Amino acid sequence: MNNSLDKFNRLVDSLQELPTIGKKSATRLAYFMVMNDSFVGMKIANSIEDALGSLKKCTACGGMSEDELCYICCDERRDDTVLCIVENAKDILLLEENALFDGKYFVLEALDEYTISNLIDIANSGISEVVFAITPSIANDAVILYIEDKLSEFDISFSKIAQGVPTGVSLENIDLLSLTRALEDRVRV
Ligand SMILES: [Zn+2]
Repeated sequence: MNNSLDKFNRLVDSLQELPTIGKKSATRLAYFMVMNDSFVGMKIANSIEDALGSLKKCTACGGMSEDELCYICCDERRDDTVLCIVENAKDILLLEENALFDGKYFVLEALDEYTISNLIDIANSGISEVVFAITPSIANDAVILYIEDKLSEFDISFSKIAQGVPTGVSLENIDLLSLTRALEDRVRV
C-alpha cells in the first residue's frame, strides 16, 4: 500500500511560499481544495495560470498591465500634469481602489540612469507637479532630493505625502483616512 501524501505535501509547501501563509494555513487551504471543494481549487489554478501568462509591467509607468500600456496611462480623462511616484506597483492598486488620485503614476523601482531618463521624458511631456507617495524615511528623503535635482530644469513643483503617515511605514499599512489626508495635505519639498 502506498501511504505517501507527496502530492498533498507538495501543495502545502507551495502555498507556504506565499507571503503571510504559514504551515497551518497552507495545510487548511490545501485540505479545503483537495477534499472539500475541488472546483474552487481548479478555479484558482486556472486564474493563477491566466494571470501569470497575461500580466506584465506597463512600459510607461511600471504598473501592472495586460497590455503594453496600462489602462491608467491610456486614460485621457486623467490629469497628465500631475505625476504620482510610488515604490511598488501594488501601491497603485491601493490608491486606485480608493480613488485617491486622478493623475498619472510612476513606479520607482530603481534609482538608475534608465529611471531618470524615463522621468525626464515624462517631465518633457509637460507635468506641473510630482507627488512622492513613498514611505517617509530619511533614505527616501534623499531619493526625493535626488530626483528633484535631476528634474530641476523643469518648471515642476514637488510634494510628498506627510501628515498622518508614520516614518518607515509603507503605504499598504496605512489606514485609508490617514492616506487620504496625507495625499490631500501633501507638503512641498
Ligand atoms: Zn501605465
